Amino acid sequence: MRPSVLFGLFSNIQTLKGIGPRWGKLLSTLCGNTILSVLFHLPYSVLYRPIKTDLSKVPSGSLITTKVKVLEHKKPFSKKTPYRIICEGEDGLLDIVFFNYKKDYLIKQLPEGEERWISGSVDKFNNRLQMSHPDYVCPLGEEWKIPALEPVYPLTQGVTNKLMQHATREALKTLPPLPEWHEEKKMGTSGWPSFADALKTIHQPTHETDVSPVSKARQRLAYDEQLANQLALVLMRHQMKKETGIAFKGDGHLRQQLLSALPFTLTNAQQRVINEIIGDMQSPFRMLRLLQGDVGSGKTIVGLLAMLNAVESGYQAALMAPTDILVRQHFAKIEQLCGPLGIKVALLTGRDKGKNRQETLEKIASGEAQIIIGTHALFSEDVVFAKLGFVLIDEQHRFGVGQRLALTKKAPKTDTLVMTATPIPRTLALTYYGDMDISILGEKPPTRKPAVTRVLNVKKIPETVEALKTYINEGRQVYWICPLIEETEKSDLANATTRFKFLDELFPHKVGLIHGKMKGPEKDAVMQDFIDKKYSILVSTTVIEVGVDVKNASIMIIEQAERFGLSGLHQLRGRIGRGDESATCLLLYDYPLSDTAKQRLNIMRTSDDGFYIAEQDLKLRGAGEVLGTRQSGWENFRLTDMTFHEDLIASARQEAVEIIKTDPTLSSERGKALRILLYLFDKDASIQTIHAG
Ligand code: ADP
Ligand code: MG
Repeated sequence: MRPSVLFGLFSNIQTLKGIGPRWGKLLSTLCGNTILSVLFHLPYSVLYRPIKTDLSKVPSGSLITTKVKVLEHKKPFSKKTPYRIICEGEDGLLDIVFFNYKKDYLIKQLPEGEERWISGSVDKFNNRLQMSHPDYVCPLGEEWKIPALEPVYPLTQGVTNKLMQHATREALKTLPPLPEWHEEKKMGTSGWPSFADALKTIHQPTHETDVSPVSKARQRLAYDEQLANQLALVLMRHQMKKETGIAFKGDGHLRQQLLSALPFTLTNAQQRVINEIIGDMQSPFRMLRLLQGDVGSGKTIVGLLAMLNAVESGYQAALMAPTDILVRQHFAKIEQLCGPLGIKVALLTGRDKGKNRQETLEKIASGEAQIIIGTHALFSEDVVFAKLGFVLIDEQHRFGVGQRLALTKKAPKTDTLVMTATPIPRTLALTYYGDMDISILGEKPPTRKPAVTRVLNVKKIPETVEALKTYINEGRQVYWICPLIEETEKSDLANATTRFKFLDELFPHKVGLIHGKMKGPEKDAVMQDFIDKKYSILVSTTVIEVGVDVKNASIMIIEQAERFGLSGLHQLRGRIGRGDESATCLLLYDYPLSDTAKQRLNIMRTSDDGFYIAEQDLKLRGAGEVLGTRQSGWENFRLTDMTFHEDLIASARQEAVEIIKTDPTLSSERGKALRILLYLFDKDASIQTIHAG
């Protein structure tokens, strides 16, 4: 239960003075529902309103505050001309101009003959200095209402900067005194303000640098956010480690048979990673481990060996992949490898219906099926496992922390290994997978040849198509990737449908099309036809499945490559270079090219190292893009800016580990303060794990 000291901060913004339902609604779409969420919506810059008296020297376009005497209201002849109020400053004239106005209101606010403080941006019009629609108009004595520095917020339709300022001003008033959760020593050496003071400083800046991402106030808040996140992850991990699992005691006979049947030997990296995994499986505690390996690094075989360890120990193993096509592909491969070993492999997807499904369910329930491969349908309610001991999740980046938690609850005691092909820089791995142990497959099989990547102007399409004719005659297959599905009026983007028509005319009946608006089975059918070589060219949007393995496809053309992120490009390119042929990737671009786009294309041209590419991507685009978190609803940080705060993550991790080591239930004085920190950042679920444990 949330402590009562936080009730105020978690109440609805509509309860703030001057924020009714109407403003409240607008604000909540921008920042969230609670008062705290308004406070966590930080300004990105400040407006400086210097006091200027010498009006003759004020440059056009500047924002100023000045004192004027109102001389005369010039009422316009028609509604089309503006309302003009002639004023006199200390040193020069200034007109205040209104385009939309209520005359009576203006006469009341700016009566002739009186003095006013005004603030706004000025420009020169017909050689006269004018200020249209001043931001502030105050009678003498009330000039304190005009801030010298004003925070500038990210806004949406309907929310003005003034509204944000008002809301944060009121929200700050409700901030309760909170105990400090950082150690005195840390506060001393860092020079950080308290949590409340940090928020005050940023929302009511007195120096231009206050809102900068590197200000002490901002650093503190970012660290708070990261510490809360790390504490939550470390707590979850700690809890998991306490739970008893299965101590697998496989004798290795199946693994041996599989290895000797393979046409290759394992790489050192694969060997090392398998040892890590088997070690974990032998321990009596639950395993939650992430296997990170670049595309084509050979994760599948590693996962399979772990599954065999479970089977040797008399348990069932399940493999879950995000899409039907991937599931089928895994099934075909694993069936082929495990069939000869006498292992029963079952397939279960959401599309299996009726009698078929019933039979499969029975095999799973009786224990006849030893390895079960499926989509998330594996975890629907009617699926009962006889003796599930091990879960392998492929292409993990489509599952978030929440889904992981749900899964480990659904299959208690099981060991879990998740495999991801998105190489993630260390800090990000800590941030998003901090509840897991991590194994890295940092070496690719020697048979894997990096694709030769070339960057070409889109005008070269005719030549490209000409060259394709030869390739296709040789029986090779081609992926052609386009960024969009349909042409929209506003954009002249190349798109899959148009490209498909164009290519289909040149290569009749040899071109397939796959895009995001197609239904699952439809997509699968086209994909299967491509695998079966009915098509030579597959035109596709980015829906082309992660992990799909078509060995014969060795050419990829990516149109408007400048629009893709690096990680996306690398994933796409990972689809080729899986067979014996050398692979070629053509990145087509069009002008204008931004500097970042140029850098990206150049990185793709020169590197095939997923980890390096991910690091660069993180630098160029930020975390959300690298992980695709925007789509998957993962953690989005509000106070942290990865560009500036990345280094805080590792130290937050370290501190979280220390804290949980010495005070695993967070019950010391400091521990109690840290619980408040967790609640502030919505980590309620992780606090519950303490109570449960
Ligand atoms: P990913 O890590 O992208 O899932 P896969 O597991 O699909 O990669 O492996 C890619 C290809 O490399 C597969 O065809 C697989 O059979 C092959 N492979 C895996 N390990 C080795 C190895 N040690 N030597 C040679 N080829 C290997
Ligand atoms: Mg794979």
